[in-house]
Amino acid sequence: MTNKIYNFSAGPSKLPEAVVEIAKNELSNWHGKGFSIMEISHRGKDFGEVLAKSKQDLRNLLGISDNFEILFLQGGATQQFSQIPINMLGGRSADYVITGAWSEKSFNEAKKVSYYKNDPEHQIRLVASTQNSNFTKLPEISEIKLNPYAAYLHLCTNETIHGVEIDPNRLTPLPNVPLIADMSSHILSRPFDIEKFGLVYAGAQKNIGPAGLTLVIVRKDLLGLADLNTPKTWDYAQLAENDSMINTPPTFAIYMAGLVFDWLLNTCGGLENISKINKQKADLLYQNIDNSGDFYINSVQKDCRSQMNVPFIINKNVDKNGELLQKFLAEAEQNNLVGLKGHKSVGGLRASLYNAVTLEEVKVLCDFLQEFQRKFG
Ligand SMILES: *Cc1c(COP(=O)(O)O)cnc(C)c1O
Repeated sequence: MTNKIYNFSAGPSKLPEAVVEIAKNELSNWHGKGFSIMEISHRGKDFGEVLAKSKQDLRNLLGISDNFEILFLQGGATQQFSQIPINMLGGRSADYVITGAWSEKSFNEAKKVSYYKNDPEHQIRLVASTQNSNFTKLPEISEIKLNPYAAYLHLCTNETIHGVEIDPNRLTPLPNVPLIADMSSHILSRPFDIEKFGLVYAGAQKNIGPAGLTLVIVRKDLLGLADLNTPKTWDYAQLAENDSMINTPPTFAIYMAGLVFDWLLNTCGGLENISKINKQKADLLYQNIDNSGDFYINSVQKDCRSQMNVPFIINKNVDKNGELLQKFLAEAEQNNLVGLKGHKSVGGLRASLYNAVTLEEVKVLCDFLQEFQRKFG
């Protein structure tokens, strides 16, 4: 028996224990067939059922109508930074909002594939950035001048590194400008109205399943805008026509994601339920940070703090040379708390509270924070 591990990794991240248990039990003998799910054709009847059930469960979870196509792709959310403009620009310009490291990357990649790099009418436009605030708040909506003729407006609704979240339910799209959102690190953490969006996408390894799978949900009427010379594995329309199987899909990752969808629907009782627990988890951790007398600090403005990714630091006045941070990480690990190191670009600490992380586990983390402060604060 190994000791229980408390895993707050940002991604790849903790999977629901019940899901890992099912996968373990049927790993070498899937549904009594004598083979594992990894060892059979993606075009056969057995895997076909896994794929169909995964998609249907995802439709049920998010209330995805037939107006939308679900694509199970590869290449990560990072590939989507290029694949989206290739498929969605249709010779026009697009608007980008930068609220953290990930939306900044998506903007920079989109510029590389825009049609007319020096023509302002056809550019990838930056319409708002919160870099001046070190990405600790959201842009003032009233300050944003959106292009009503843009091919789309792109946002990242949860910045995994900076811990800034936009509640998808509070967005109001312009009438003819599809909203596109990178939801990698908070999709399935709460219900939202997919009908407001033209496309949402997510790398699976945060809140869906293991790495290797990228989820794209796209409105069907927006398909078919890619250039005719677009390679077919990059063309959403051709991928949709081929049920995401132009090349062999990541079958094991799709199977695991399917188990997670089933767990969310049938064990957790859907996204409304899990979102309540997610809110409790985040509230508890932020309270502990805010009540630490500035020993621990999260600088994100309260109305846009992420419920999934909580970056924080130990006060620089207390921890002048960063020794306490190292001590924190070492002590945490001794207590079986792992994955708490902040992203290398910002340093400090970060706790990710994805669906698979329980309220009890967050309580253990909060107890540890208090204990560490008592000892060293
Ligand atoms: C992790 C992450 C990405 C990158 O995902 P990959 O699958 O590694 O390409 C992009 N956007 C956000 C918001 C992320 O959290």
